[in-house]
Amino acid sequence: MISRRQLLQHLGTVPVAGTLLTLPRALQAPVESGTSRDFFKELGVRTFINAAGTYTALTGCMMHPNVIEAIDYASKQYVSLDEIQDKVGERIAELVHCEYATVTAGCFSAITLGTAGVLTGMDPKKADQLPNDFTGMKSEVIVQKSHRVGYDHAIKNTGVKIVQVESREDLENAINDQTAMMWFLNYHSHEGQIGPEEWVAIGKKHGVPTMNDCAADVPPVENLWKYTKMGFDLVCFSGGKGIRGPQSAGLLLGRKDLVQAARLSAPPRGSTIGRGMKVNKEEVLGMLVALETYLNRDHEADWKLWEGQIQHIHEAVMQVPGVETEIHVPEIANHVPSIRVRWDENKISMTPNEVRQALRMGHPSIETVGGGESVDMTTWMMQPGEERIVGKRLVEILSGASKT
Ligand SMILES: *Cc1c(COP(=O)(O)O)cnc(C)c1O
Repeated sequence: MISRRQLLQHLGTVPVAGTLLTLPRALQAPVESGTSRDFFKELGVRTFINAAGTYTALTGCMMHPNVIEAIDYASKQYVSLDEIQDKVGERIAELVHCEYATVTAGCFSAITLGTAGVLTGMDPKKADQLPNDFTGMKSEVIVQKSHRVGYDHAIKNTGVKIVQVESREDLENAINDQTAMMWFLNYHSHEGQIGPEEWVAIGKKHGVPTMNDCAADVPPVENLWKYTKMGFDLVCFSGGKGIRGPQSAGLLLGRKDLVQAARLSAPPRGSTIGRGMKVNKEEVLGMLVALETYLNRDHEADWKLWEGQIQHIHEAVMQVPGVETEIHVPEIANHVPSIRVRWDENKISMTPNEVRQALRMGHPSIETVGGGESVDMTTWMMQPGEERIVGKRLVEILSGASKT
């Protein structure tokens, strides 16, 4: 027999004061539980194998089940946001051997909040003044020209002026009584004339705090402490890249006074530039557990797995006449086994972008990167085994366009 509840659900109606009211579909009681629903399919959103890497546009990384459990756990109880940030900050600082830490809404937000902390110190009035009124604060941050790849917008969000330098001499001349901070982009360590150690040394000589943007710079895992130990006053990491934490989380590590000052511009405090950079208890705890999980991984085994996957793709595509590969490991940032696939367009009548598009449009869809010269891939953001599908699809597409 059909129950009254089932009947009501079936009709999409609820009794209101003795009458039956028809509700819009979305308000009909209870929604099916999550696990039984294929949300992306319902929405018509494409899912894909991520052979590209940790890209914001491709939703970054997949969190370890431990992290999802922590997020689920945190979602069921209330805590004070400042208290959980205090406790998690202390624990993270222990784990990565620095003085203090806080969870931010990504590396970009760590840069903005860290810069704000350097500017304001522990004065909430000054935090309220940013980004327009620099009364009582320094107003310049120095950056090497070759480090200006766009992420320095995170610094500009505080309202400071960026002063660009190239040589050591430029830098020494640029430092003045308005210099609040010197910012370094780690993955361009070899692009500028001044390397990280020297950047720190010059900062110390002039009493100017230094910050290092290490967003994508694990692995190797040691980088989590290398740059605070080197003497950078603040170091920023993305939570949702190699650490595989929440995409909307990051780490600000370093001097306790500066990290605490950075938090003056972070939620729950309202009249601040950082109020929109909210991380809640779920991301804060998720970030901690992601870091613990990452630190406990067998990094050598991970590396062997990635090498094997890249080797598999290499061997697959080399079956197609005219194809060449280059296996490489970027020195800093996304420091993982990677492969570039190129071919002789006299032998294969497709451009790299056409092949990337064919991979994207196929089943399953596969995302890759590449600047028009090659199809570039990493395997660290894939599920193990997916390299076989990637290799097979590449072979199908390339041999399908083979002129021989
Ligand atoms: C990814 C990245 C950022 C931004 O990090 P989010 O965690 O996405 O905020 C900043 N700087 C560099 C060098 C990056 O690679």
